Amino acid sequence: MSKEELECSFCGRKKAETNLLIAGLDAHICDRCIEQAHGIVVEEALHATNNELSKELILKKPKSIKEFLDEYVIGQSHTKKVMSVAVYNHYKRLLQPKTDDDIEIQKSNIIMVGQTGTGKTLVAKTIARMLNVPLAIVDATVLTEAGYVGEDVESILTRLLQAADYNLEKAQNGIVFIDEIDKIARKSDNPSITRDVSGEGVQQALLKLLEGTTVNVPPKGGRKHPDQKFIEVNTENILFIAGGAFDGIERHISKRLNMQSVGFSATLKEEHMDRDNLLRYIIPKDLKDFGLIPEIIGRLPVLTYMNPLDKGTLRAILTEPKNAIIKQYKKLFEMDGIDFEITEEALDFIVEQAIVYKLGARGLRSLCEAVLTDAMYELPGSEDKELRVTAEYAQEKLNKSTIKKLKAVS
Ligand code: ADP
Repeated sequence: MSKEELECSFCGRKKAETNLLIAGLDAHICDRCIEQAHGIVVEEALHATNNELSKELILKKPKSIKEFLDEYVIGQSHTKKVMSVAVYNHYKRLLQPKTDDDIEIQKSNIIMVGQTGTGKTLVAKTIARMLNVPLAIVDATVLTEAGYVGEDVESILTRLLQAADYNLEKAQNGIVFIDEIDKIARKSDNPSITRDVSGEGVQQALLKLLEGTTVNVPPKGGRKHPDQKFIEVNTENILFIAGGAFDGIERHISKRLNMQSVGFSATLKEEHMDRDNLLRYIIPKDLKDFGLIPEIIGRLPVLTYMNPLDKGTLRAILTEPKNAIIKQYKKLFEMDGIDFEITEEALDFIVEQAIVYKLGARGLRSLCEAVLTDAMYELPGSEDKELRVTAEYAQEKLNKSTIKKLKAVS
């Protein structure tokens, strides 16, 4: 057969009609068929991921998502409920078959408002664990507008790719937790006074990412560089969860509520208002008054709040979650054949110290560490196979360690 007579074994086009004809052992394939075949491969791979996703998710209705959260996160029932629904809807959106009814389900990105240490990161981590999807935790404070010292917003996706072991498909179905979103609030009401490179500019840069777009991501992070190869990441199916303490937002809430209760439409009578926890009345307008731009708020449509941790919650955090701190110590001691017991009074004492020194839930771990370090040092390998921690024991050990230092660390 002459060169001119060669044809594509798939579509039958003659060599002259193709741009490229590649020879195999007994067959040829043209450029068009290669492209078409590639399309099929991509489609199939996507299908497979969706199928896998649906297999996992069919079992998880909002109620079972909440039950899973209950095992790890104490209290915060409002947030757990809202998150369960948002996550359920998000994954329903991913699995929806393509129809032509024009009803497009929007992304249910989430924003959580609450003091530091109330479990915002924990909620995001637990959801990622449940869904078995990669999670990237990023700090909004390191982000700056492109071209300024700091990190471009694309670095968020680099982290997600790393968390997914560079499996693009997994990354594109992952979760991003953006911590300290309140720190990129607009600093002043007049945006034009100075360049606000770490505030409004970053919010603007985040917009596209949150909504869903294709971004060229430098796989190793760092600044974009002309010679660097990029990975194209589509953010359409990535669930974004933002969290922040929004210190002082209560002022905006209170002002708004007071204005409401003066008007005829007063729905919240003063005496019924929970003055100690105004966050529970938060609405998107308060975020705007705090300095988030309306477009960002619109792309984080699910707004929820975290309650401050009271004594009872702190106490429960010590012992109740599936991987509670005390359970962890018990396991550590067990590995050395040591029977570890801690009395109710000792637990109460630790909680009281966390409150006195305003250490919050994060401080519970440092306090336990201070109480148990001596024992963890001395007992392994010794004759002693029992450790009973009483309130007196805990107090003695804490007095020896410098609690003041603990406070500085946390
Ligand atoms: P945030 O992100 O709100 O600052 P984290 O989620 O990082 O707080 O919480 C810090 C630590 O405190 C967590 O690792 C967790 O052990 C504990 N913690 C905080 N809140 C809770 C909670 N509601 N239930 C269980 N543990 C909690």
